[in-house]
Formats: sequence, structure tokens, C-alpha cells
Amino acid sequence: MSFAALGLSEEIVRAVTERGYTEPTPIQAQAIPVVLSGRDLLAGAQTGTGKTAGFTLPILQRLSTTAKPASSKAPVRALILAPTRELAAQIEESVREYGKYLKLHSMMMFGGVNINPQIQKLRGRVDILVATPGRLLDHVQQKTVDLSHVEILVLDEADRMLDMGFIRDIKKILALLPKQRQNLLFSATFPDEIKLLADGMLTKPAMVEVARQGSTAELITQRVYPVDRERKRELLAHLIKEHNWHQVLVFTRTKHGANRLAEQLGKDGIPALAIHGNKSQGARTRALAEFKSGELQVLVATDIAARGIDIIELPHVVNYELPNVPEDYVHRIGRTGRAGSEGEASSLVCVDERKLLNDIERLTKLEIQVVQVPGFEPDPRIKAEPILNGQNRGGQNRGGGQRARNPAPARPGNHPRGGTGGKPAGGQGAGRSVAPPKGSGGGKPALSPPREGRKAPGGNTAIPALHRFGGRGR
Ligand code: AMP
Repeated sequence: MSFAALGLSEEIVRAVTERGYTEPTPIQAQAIPVVLSGRDLLAGAQTGTGKTAGFTLPILQRLSTTAKPASSKAPVRALILAPTRELAAQIEESVREYGKYLKLHSMMMFGGVNINPQIQKLRGRVDILVATPGRLLDHVQQKTVDLSHVEILVLDEADRMLDMGFIRDIKKILALLPKQRQNLLFSATFPDEIKLLADGMLTKPAMVEVARQGSTAELITQRVYPVDRERKRELLAHLIKEHNWHQVLVFTRTKHGANRLAEQLGKDGIPALAIHGNKSQGARTRALAEFKSGELQVLVATDIAARGIDIIELPHVVNYELPNVPEDYVHRIGRTGRAGSEGEASSLVCVDERKLLNDIERLTKLEIQVVQVPGFEPDPRIKAEPILNGQNRGGQNRGGGQRARNPAPARPGNHPRGGTGGKPAGGQGAGRSVAPPKGSGGGKPALSPPREGRKAPGGNTAIPALHRFGGRGR
């Protein structure tokens, strides 16, 4: 299957080829013909599947073939809504890159930056607008954007938008659009709210769903490194130096934790910056650019800030702290092993996080390989402490030694296993059509089974799960 065979024009195929794509991913192979046909689309696909090109390519094609008279001013014809500024920026970058041989104009729009340059830009020609909902509504209020000619609407990462409280904004925006239009809704999961939104918004949609690309997911090597909460930073610095890791994306639970960790790594001689919602847009853009170019060795991010970071061949993702929600683990590690490149996802896990690890393994139906780095064996006398309000207690070097305040020992419990013999959930990523999104979340990710008996880099031997956390205290 080639991009040309999907009905894409020579200009688009050329741009895509130059980007290095040789064939469409499953979501692209399914979504592109549907979008080209003008039908509404409901797509179950998460980041890492190639979904962005799945909607941007056919949109570019449709708009370029139904050309409007050349003019320096033209109304917005395609509106793409995304939950975060980073994602909006990435999408618009894709639009520009894939559309570089076409005469279409795009613009991104998000909050947190001066509105005036956006107003200025809207006075010119904008065929494709990529926006976050809040800032778009600011423009609507100021009457600086005209949405009355929108022909195609995309809601990308709709579930995230709902999580972030954008449902009212989305409804307001929908009410401003022409009734006659094509709608595309992309979401990784389908909770009831999304189904309701889809029901109200889509007309006889085609439905496609893909699991994470099997070939991609299988390329992610996942490891758990048991360590005491107070020694996480030390272990992270050790791993980075020992294995000479570059382009390491590290996740913390809190903004404060991200800042502190970046600072501390800097003191360890490892160039690191934090990226999160409290940083100015300029600082975030600069950090991302340096990270992408390889200048910056480590980027520390919170889950929300990391949405939309799209770096081809990101080799290392580290969970400095496990996320409270197991689905976020899947999102996080989806940042590596993308589109055919190999990746490693490493989790530094302290005694407080056992339950979180159990939840992740239950969701992914995997038993993640455990690697004990010699010299970092957890002290069995340290008891689990509760993780309060998402506040990071693990590994932030709170000082004051290893006091166990309000100790709440983790229940040893059974280690839940999905019983699939370590097979990835959700198939091998071949796209497949699905029934309407009733019931449970579509797009269950397929993750790689642990590579048994494999030696970790640097010679740390993987040890069986029975000996997790030094084989003690379970
Ligand atoms: P997305 O799911 O849209 O965030 O894309 C995931 C990654 O796959 C991005 O780094 C894209 O640049 C890359 N990608 C998208 N389509 C293809 C393709 N057909 N072949 C190879 N890589 C692709």
C-alpha cells in the first residue's frame, strides 16, 4: 500500500516521502480514504499510531482540490481543535510540512501568549486553523475570527479535551460552525461523555480503530528499576551516565518535582530542563527545540505538558514516578519506540508505588521486567508511605533522612496477571473496523511482552518478578 494508492496527490506524496514515510500506517490506510470521501469519521487511535497524518493529509488534499479563488484574505475552511498548545503546535507543523507544495495557509492559535499577533495573522489568509478551545473562544468573543465557512472540523484527542474540562467550550464552538460540514473525531478511549459528544456531532460516521502499532509497541523495552524513594535521583543520574543516554524524556508527577529534578540533574552535570504549564510559552518552546536538536540531554515533564511532544526516534522515556492513573503510563511510554525505532521505557519504582505498578501491569496485561542495579537495592526496613494528592513523595530528596511519616504499608496482595501469557493486548496493530463505540474504551494499547532473560545494558541482569524489590517485603 502506498500513499499514492490512497488517492493523495503528487504534491502531498512528495512531501510525505521527503519526511521519510514509505507507507501508510494502519490508521492512515483506513482514515485517509474515508476523509477523502467526505464522510464523517470516528477514529479510535492514540498518539504514536500516525493519526495526525491520518487526518491532515486528506484535509490538505480536499482543500487543495476544491480551491477557493486565490485571495490574500479567505475564511477558515478547516478547524482542528487540540487539547494543548504543544499538540496544536505539532499538528500545525505537520500541516505545514505535508502541505509545503500546496498553496494553503495554516495557523496555530493557543493561549498563554499575546493575542495581538494572532489577530494580525487572522486578517490574512488562513485556510486551516489549529487551535486550543479557550483561545479560539477569546477570538470569537473579540470577533477576530470567522468560523462561518468551516467545511471540516477535527477534534483531536477528544478524551483528553474532556478530561481537561473543555466540553463546554467545544459545545460553544460547535454551535458557531455551519451545520453542513465534515466532522472527524479522534480519541484514544471512548467513555460515555465521548460517545454522547460523538452522537451529537457526527452523521453516519465511518468508524476505524487501531491498536498501537504492533511493530512499534514491540520495539519498546520496558523495565522496572526498584530503588528507595530517596535515591531515585542518584539512580537516574547513574543510569544516564552509565549508559550514556541522550534525549531522555523524564516524567514526574508534579510541576514542582519536575523543576527540582531538572535543577538537581544539572548539578550532577547532566543538562536538563523542566517543561510544564507554569513555564512561559517561550521557555517551553526553547526547551523543546533544544531537546529535539539533541543539545539538551534530559527534558523533565509532567503528563499534561508532555502531550503532543512528537520527536521521531525518542530513545528513552523514564518514569521517575509512576503515574497515578495507569492509562498515563501507556501514554508516557508511547513517546518512545515510535514509527519503527527502538525505545526504552524505564520506571524507577519505590516501595510506595507497588500498587501503582500492579495497576499498570493489570491494565497492560504485562509483567514488566525488573532490573536491580547493584548498589541500589531497596532497604527492606523502609516502609511504604502514602502518595498524597499526587504530591510526589518518591525521590524528591525531601531531606531529613528516611523517616516514615504516617506509614501505611502496602498490602502485599496478589500480583495481578492478565493471564494472556504475556501476549500484547489488542492485536498486532493491523487496523480493523469496529462496531460503534459502545462499552469499554476502544483502542486498548498493545504493549510489548518483556524480553525474557535479556540482559539490560551495562550488564545488569534482569531478575524474575518474584525477586522484585530485592525479593523482600512482598
Ligand atoms: P502521531 O500518532 O500522529 O503522533 O505520529 C506518531 C509518529 O509517527 C510521528 O513521529 C510521525 O512523524 C510518525 N509517522 C506518521 N506517519 C508515519 C508513516 N507513515 N511512516 C513512518 N512514520 C510515521
